[in-house]
Amino acid sequence: MERKNGFNTKLLHDKTSLGYAQREILPPVSQVNAFRYESAEELERVFQHKSAGFAYTRVGNPTTAAFERRINELEGGVGAVATSSGMAAVTAALLAVVQSGDEIIAGSGLYGGTIDLFRDFGKLGIRVVYVQETSEQTVKRLITDRTKAVFAELVGNPSLAILDVPKVSAVAHAAGVPLFVDSTTATPYLVKPLDLGADVVVHSTSKYINGGGNSIGGIVVDGGKFPWDFKKHEALADFARYGKLAFSVRLRTDLWENFGGCMAPANAFLSYIGADTLGLRMDRICYNAEKLALALAKLPEIEVNYPTLPGNPFASLAKSELGGRGGGILTFRAGSKERAFRVINALKFAMIASNIGDLRTLVIHPASTLFLHSNREAREAAGVYDDTVRVSVGIEDVDDLIDDFTSAVKASFQS
Ligand code: PLP
Repeated sequence: MERKNGFNTKLLHDKTSLGYAQREILPPVSQVNAFRYESAEELERVFQHKSAGFAYTRVGNPTTAAFERRINELEGGVGAVATSSGMAAVTAALLAVVQSGDEIIAGSGLYGGTIDLFRDFGKLGIRVVYVQETSEQTVKRLITDRTKAVFAELVGNPSLAILDVPKVSAVAHAAGVPLFVDSTTATPYLVKPLDLGADVVVHSTSKYINGGGNSIGGIVVDGGKFPWDFKKHEALADFARYGKLAFSVRLRTDLWENFGGCMAPANAFLSYIGADTLGLRMDRICYNAEKLALALAKLPEIEVNYPTLPGNPFASLAKSELGGRGGGILTFRAGSKERAFRVINALKFAMIASNIGDLRTLVIHPASTLFLHSNREAREAAGVYDDTVRVSVGIEDVDDLIDDFTSAVKASFQS
C-alpha cells in the first residue's frame, strides 16, 4: 500500500509552492492594485474569464491566490476565496446562498460577532433561528421549506461545544440543506470538516492559521459536492449552469467581488508563512491547553471547561473528530465577575487581549467584551457567564503557564 505523507510534509511541499515565476520558494508579494496588459483584447479576455490572468486585486491577486490554494488543499475543497476578515468570510459564504425571506438554522454557542451579524441579517429579511444545543434532533425540528443553510462552529468559541458533523450534516442533507461550518478554532490540523460531511468551511484566518497575531483575514472553502436544487436555492439560480460548483462561482465572480471583501496581498503572505507552522503550533498549543486545564481543574475554587477533561460531555466527539485533541481554548468560572477580573489582572504572562490563536497566551472576560451586545440567553448559550474567563493558550513553556494561572487564581481568593 502507498504511504501517505503526514500533515506537515504535505503542507510544506504542497502544490502551491510550485509554479512561481522565478522559482521562489514562497509566493512573491504582489502588493499592487492592478495588472498591465499588452492589448485591450487581452484584458477583455481576462474580464470575460476566457483567459487566465489577474486584472484587479479586489477580484484576484497572485499572492492571495497562493494562500487560497494552500488552504483549499489543506481542507480538501474544490475552491477557496480569501476574505478581509473572518466576519467577511461568514457574511460572504451565507449571503451567497440566502436571500430575503430565507431562514438559516444557527448552532448554539456562536462567537459573539457572528451573533451580532445575524441580527443584521434579520434587518435584511433573513431569519436566523437558533438551536439551544446543536444535535441532529434539534436541527431536524427547526428545518422548514425556507431553511437554506445550517451554520455552526465546529468547536464553539468559547462554549467549546463540539459539533457532530456527520449526524448534523445527514439531517440537513436529507432536507436538501447544506451544512456550513466555522472551523476557526478546530483548524485543518485537527479536523477536515468536508471529509465528515460539511459542505462549506469558513475560517477566521486571523487566528490559528496565521498564528502570529499579525493579520486579520478569513477564508471560505467549498467542498463542491452539494447537489444544489436551484428552485430551492434561488439565490444561486443564475449560476445553475455550474451545477455543484454554482456556490463557488457565485461567491468568487459575483457576491464577494461586489461586496469588496478581498484579503490584502500582504496579509495573504503573512498568513501563508504563518500557516507553515500550523501543525507544530497546534501540537504544542493542544498539549499546553490540556496540561493547563488539568492543573486548573485541581483547584477547588474554579470550574474548568476543556473538551478532553474527564467527564466533559464532548470528550467522545473530541476523540472521534479531533483525534483526541481539545484545541487551544479553555474557559473557567471564577465565582463572580470581580473575582474573574482579579484573576485576569494578577496574571504575569498571559496578555489581556481580544484574540485567539496567537503564539502568546491571551485572556479575556467575554461577558464584558466579546458578548457586550448579546443578551443573557445568547451569552449563556455560548457558555459565557459573568464569571467566565476565556484563555487562548499559547506556546510558552507549560510549567510557566501553570504557575502563572494557579498563582493568580489562588491570589484572587486570598484578597
Ligand atoms: N469565527 C470565530 C469562531 C471567531 O472566533 C472569530 C473571531 O474571533 C470570527 C469568526 C471572526 O473573525 P475575524 O475577527 O477575523 O473577523
